[in-house]
Amino acid sequence: MKRDLKKRWLAVTSAVLFIFLTVSATGASPLPALSAAEVIEVIDGSTIRVRAGDREEVVRLIGVGGTEAQPQGQQPEPRESASESFIRSQLEGRTVYLEKDVQERDEGGRLWAYVWLDRPGEISDQEIRAKMLNAQLLLHGYAELSTIPQNFRYIDFFRTYQAEAQKGGRGLWALRSSDSQDTQDVTVYITQTGKKYHQEGCRYLARSKIPISLREAQARGYEPCSVCNPPRSLTPAPSPASSQENSPALPAPLPARASGR
Ligand SMILES: [Zn+2]
Repeated sequence: MKRDLKKRWLAVTSAVLFIFLTVSATGASPLPALSAAEVIEVIDGSTIRVRAGDREEVVRLIGVGGTEAQPQGQQPEPRESASESFIRSQLEGRTVYLEKDVQERDEGGRLWAYVWLDRPGEISDQEIRAKMLNAQLLLHGYAELSTIPQNFRYIDFFRTYQAEAQKGGRGLWALRSSDSQDTQDVTVYITQTGKKYHQEGCRYLARSKIPISLREAQARGYEPCSVCNPPRSLTPAPSPASSQENSPALPAPLPARASGR
């Protein structure tokens, strides 16, 4: 019985995907495939439990980080509860629309998704700001941008939203503005085709020069250029939790992380 359901689910999913791909191929609509889900529970600032059809899923919000328990010794940060209560206020008892990216599940089998509060009429900056929860968390400074390998569909929007929150000193960025620069990110540059990241002024940047945060460059697997010797770390000793979260590729299964939740 359970198997049958699974098969049917797969068939439905493939049908939807097929239609989506067909439509995309004709260039008619850039709208992503969305699946409606009912929110059962808000687990924490970046994780919710939903019912989709007859399945229950734990969903992790793509791009939303910095809401995990803090590594040893650091005082608990208020942003955790801010993010959580914001999610709760937005989600309690409602239907949301889940959008997947390339990497569907995390190492624990949880679904990675963009959570739309309403169906977008089109994919635009305006619609994303107004309707996507992941984007709103970054815009309000309730969460910190965290990249997941391959799930980069909205990364440029997310980066912009986080920059706005930082600039406006919103949420967690207000708390940090008085901190030392070790929590600030550093801008480095990448090129159209290269695999290295560079400092301002490097000769390899003559043809193309794309600004990117150091954290982001490393998360996407760029290596420091040996000519211009750009910064290699934000802090003298990055916490093991964050370096693991941002590891660029997943050749081997990640070791289960001791969760502080
Ligand atoms: Zn360089």
